[in-house]
Amino acid sequence: MNELNPSGWRPAMGTAPITREIETFTGNRALQLEEALLFEIGSSDRSGVDFDVVADFDLSALGPNVRKTAPNLPGLSEPETVRHYTRLSRQNYAIDLGVFPLGSCTMKHNPRLDEKVARMPGFADVHPLQPVQTVQGALSAINELAVWLIKLTGMHGVAMTPKAGAHGELCGLLCIRAALEAKGDPREVILVPESAHGTNPATAAFAGYRVENIPATADGRVDVTALTARLGPDVAGVMITNPNTCGLFERDLKVIADAVHAVGGYVYCDGANFNAIVGRVRPGDLGVDAMHINLHKTFSTPHGGGGPGSGPVVLSEALSPFGPLPFTARQVDGSIKLIEEEDADLEHPQAFGRMCAFHGQMGMYTRALAYILSHGADGLRQVSGDAVLNANYVLRSLDDVLEAPFGPAGHCMHEALFSDDGFADGFSTLDLAKGLIDEGYHPMTVYFPLVVHGAMLVEPTETESKAGLDQFIGAMRSLAERAKAGDELLKSAPHLAPRRRLDETLAARKPKLVYKHA
Ligand SMILES: *Cc1c(COP(=O)(O)O)cnc(C)c1O
Repeated sequence: MNELNPSGWRPAMGTAPITREIETFTGNRALQLEEALLFEIGSSDRSGVDFDVVADFDLSALGPNVRKTAPNLPGLSEPETVRHYTRLSRQNYAIDLGVFPLGSCTMKHNPRLDEKVARMPGFADVHPLQPVQTVQGALSAINELAVWLIKLTGMHGVAMTPKAGAHGELCGLLCIRAALEAKGDPREVILVPESAHGTNPATAAFAGYRVENIPATADGRVDVTALTARLGPDVAGVMITNPNTCGLFERDLKVIADAVHAVGGYVYCDGANFNAIVGRVRPGDLGVDAMHINLHKTFSTPHGGGGPGSGPVVLSEALSPFGPLPFTARQVDGSIKLIEEEDADLEHPQAFGRMCAFHGQMGMYTRALAYILSHGADGLRQVSGDAVLNANYVLRSLDDVLEAPFGPAGHCMHEALFSDDGFADGFSTLDLAKGLIDEGYHPMTVYFPLVVHGAMLVEPTETESKAGLDQFIGAMRSLAERAKAGDELLKSAPHLAPRRRLDETLAARKPKLVYKHA
């Protein structure tokens, strides 16, 4: 036991200098080989498979498509290919290796049960163009998930098709636009608080609205007075994140929603942080008209998930008639019908259109439904409780070494926010984040939200144990002390990663996206 790690974890390296006394000449290190590009390993005269030469193939059948030169692709054997990708994966970090402290991303464990369900052939092997009678089981799973999402949010309807949170935002705003146009009252402005995720203003602009920012109060919440003062007949709606990106609950959302409705506008809620309130607060009760739910955040399906994410949008009674096609509807005989354009005139005449060619991301739906059913309503309530508890544990375990701008004001929700206040001159949040890589962790979200200087946003999620959090906290305490003491070695971290500190500006401005043979 020691001061840094009361739990008894081996202390992080503290201020002891990190040295690399032993270097290999190859770049290889400790059971890891330095990995070259596929183009450098492979050669175009090799192949992983042998093709029979087709004797009398008439090349003229290909017309002008016959190749004139070899494609210059790297040929590799199967073991070479498998090793290449396996080695690369070992240079990376994964949720199965340790905590992902990324705030505003909700990276949590993906239960193997959900993975197993998603791989069942009746879900994994369906094709979007299969006749509806042959995919009744899959459609019924989508429908059941839809019912759960409506129930958990206290809303009226749901659009299941959007492929991500940002896509869901677009879907919600197109519903708002359609509702306003149906009233003959198209409007121009969407109000967005300055702490919002970048996708909010981007979506509003993409949907053709003018974005106006609403300031935050000193305690990190939307300034209600400033917001209500700006409301008027040109305001189509507001986009508010709740809990917000400072990790705080927007207590005044109902008051805001009433004021927005009073001037004929609509309330979009960014529901990316729904995991902090699921089972406790229903957005429908707060006057929300549309809210996306990132299944890949709240409902434990992997980010990416073997395809795009999934961002169903729950809709109020006022907006439901405008939701996109297609959607599932249970019929009186128990079967599920997929309502498409040809049915829309009768069943859903005001649909604004559609978001996607097909009706969604089956792999995400099955994982999310398996997660919801395996927890049940009580279990989901515990999920939000544990997520908030874990974030507050991180906040209180670090607020004596890191400045927590909104910490003193009370508890946080699902994520703990710190600033770089108190770091030695010339030391930044980036230095601490890079140091975290040497300590074995993926860095937390940095420099977001923009309203906090040198922000560090840590979201531990409900799936982390106290022991796991203590280990992470030990590393963070050590790094915070080094940043405050001005430990020069921190400025060149990471020292132990496969690559040292990269030039992030060059990487963003002049990325090399094409391999050119030397
Ligand atoms: C993740 C996130 C989004 C965007 O969701 P994607 O699924 O990544 O498109 C929007 N708002 C907030 C607050 C988020 O955390």
